[in-house]
Amino acid sequence: MNLLQEIENIYKQAQIKFQSLIRESEIDPTKNEFIGKKGSLTHILKQLGSLSVEEKKIIGKKANEVQQAIEGLVIETRKRLQEKEIQAQIESEIFDALRPTPSKLQGGLHPITKIQMEIEDIFVSMGFHVMDGPEIETDYHNFEALNFSEDHPAREMQDTFYTDDKNLLRTHTSPIQVRALKLLTPPFKMIAPGRVFRYEEIDASHENTFNQVEGMVVGEDISIANMLYVMQQLLIKIFDKEVNVRLRPGYFPFVEPGFELDIQCFVCGGKGCSVCKHSGWVELLPCGLIHPNVLKHGGLNPNQWTGFAFGLGLDRLVMMRYGIHDIRYFNSSNLRFLEQFSQI
Ligand SMILES: [Zn+2]
Repeated sequence: MNLLQEIENIYKQAQIKFQSLIRESEIDPTKNEFIGKKGSLTHILKQLGSLSVEEKKIIGKKANEVQQAIEGLVIETRKRLQEKEIQAQIESEIFDALRPTPSKLQGGLHPITKIQMEIEDIFVSMGFHVMDGPEIETDYHNFEALNFSEDHPAREMQDTFYTDDKNLLRTHTSPIQVRALKLLTPPFKMIAPGRVFRYEEIDASHENTFNQVEGMVVGEDISIANMLYVMQQLLIKIFDKEVNVRLRPGYFPFVEPGFELDIQCFVCGGKGCSVCKHSGWVELLPCGLIHPNVLKHGGLNPNQWTGFAFGLGLDRLVMMRYGIHDIRYFNSSNLRFLEQFSQI
């Protein structure tokens, strides 16, 4: 009775095969595999002549049943695939006013916007809030509350544009620190990306309009080790490899102690080259522990709360990642420059 088993198997195979079809044109060849002239079921029917009358009766009956069942599968599959085709046609003909036209002039995001979105994702994954602040700031938020007193020499380095009512275009994203300290209840973690402005002589590495991300963590017993860990995680994610960092003392009125964080030069691997001015290290971001006076301005008791803050220059980050040598490209609206990033 092996033939009975074989017929059963043929039917099972046919069921699987027909279910997997996705085009109507595949139906006939599949049908022939089973019940065509050279089909597997036809092959069995051809052997019936050599069987006893009894066997012929049983196996012949089974083979007929299966042949009819396979013909049923053919009809069923044809119906299924025709309906699918109609559905696809309907969907393709729906008019979508918002669908972008496939054109070479299709827009893309600016490389700085892209890196900003990436950085936001990285920090959000570490539990940071993303905050925003005004580009036109008060002197208090931009300088005074950040420990730059009125005649502080560090103001000189951050000359900016003033409005008639004595407000100014913010020189850094740090004023959002002051706003966050007043708004959020510690412990908290926040970043604030944004555009900043300085009265600068413009050259290949200086712009009057550039972009930063400010970051701050406030809690109890926050240390430089915490700061280094967060910075390292950030850099590993941005550059997608281990990054060697070092801290050098740096002066910023709103942190104490303050540091410059350098990363080992990617171009030469630390051996020294023109990009790193033959030092093996590239200056990347200023950071430090938040100055007690800044915490006080934010209404926090510096004996209870501590924290770290950092400022990351987005323009420089993009320049290092893609090997761009001139910062002026970013605001140039030069399509030949911008188009290179629209597909990245
Ligand atoms: Zn180098």
